[in-house]
Amino acid sequence: GMGDQVQLLDREGVARHLQSPLYLGALKNLRNLHLHPLNLCLGEARAAHSLGALIFENSEVLDIVHGPRPAVVTAHGRVEARQVMLAGDVYHKLEKRQLKGKIFPAMGGIVTTAPLGELAEQINPQDLAVYDCRFVLDYYRLTADKRLLFGGGANYSGKDSRDIEGELRPCIERTFPALKGVPIEFKWSCAMGIVVNRIPQLGKLSDNVWYCQGYSGHGIATSHIMGEIMAEALTGTLEKFDTFAQCKHVRVPMGDLLGNPLLAAGMWYYQMLERLR
Ligand SMILES: Cc1cc2nc3c(=O)[nH]c(=O)nc-3n(C[C@H](O)[C@H](O)[C@H](O)COP(=O)(O)OP(=O)(O)OC[C@H]3O[C@@H](n4cnc5c(N)ncnc54)[C@H](O)[C@@H]3O)c2cc1C
Repeated sequence: GMGDQVQLLDREGVARHLQSPLYLGALKNLRNLHLHPLNLCLGEARAAHSLGALIFENSEVLDIVHGPRPAVVTAHGRVEARQVMLAGDVYHKLEKRQLKGKIFPAMGGIVTTAPLGELAEQINPQDLAVYDCRFVLDYYRLTADKRLLFGGGANYSGKDSRDIEGELRPCIERTFPALKGVPIEFKWSCAMGIVVNRIPQLGKLSDNVWYCQGYSGHGIATSHIMGEIMAEALTGTLEKFDTFAQCKHVRVPMGDLLGNPLLAAGMWYYQMLERLR
């Protein structure tokens, strides 16, 4: 339904867009875009602040107290509110009784190369953001200063990878042989909140405490859609909230212990199927 905005490319078509021997074909989508997520976050923080929101960094919430006037408790203070919304994705251990076993961390690594100069134009002349369609995918784009930013190779142990460069360098060199030996200047890894059926989770923990989480590695757009739905819900319009709240989600018993091993086993199974195809 996207008309000319989506174009099917064959092998030669891909070769005109990416200097890579890897792809048999591609869908080129001119409707979507890629962005700098930290700048998005900073811009949104500024916008919220300009509207009167108060933001407290480095203030881990240790507990949520439920009641007619709920409160969040930190090491040095406590904030009471009419409504509380928990949007910590997979990074917190709050509300275990209701949320344990619903969302699991998958650690994703990202690296950026040194600035590539003219090589950037050669490997990706149209400055496209690219991802492949495997179960555990590679994804990449160029940064404003023409580095290759490359992510992939998630691990499902729930622990940070010890050798992000070692895991991703072979993927970069397989994708772009022209980048063999390219210096890697930055690397980091962080957790994605994986939900078994890949549908974001939202709900109420009590009358005036809400939660929203679980974008399974695709949260940049989705978390904004869910943010609007939650804002509507907190101000009394529940139509869209109710639609999502009705989705059935798998809850893994003893999720703390079994969640990540089961996730790892499932991902391994689907990766094997992919290799055999
Ligand atoms: C390596 C990687 C690559 C990704 N690539 C993409 C991509 O290409 N496209 C895409 O759409 N999505 C991508 N994602 C997913 C996307 O980043 C997430 O889905 C999105 O950031 C989730 O937003 P969120 O606001 O729910 O949670 P988060 O961004 O995780 O924010 C949660 C916040 O809550 C805070 N917090 C947690 N616990 C507490 C506590 N107890 N007290 C106070 N604060 C707390 C955390 O510090 C954090 O700031 C990627 C994720 C990773 C890890």
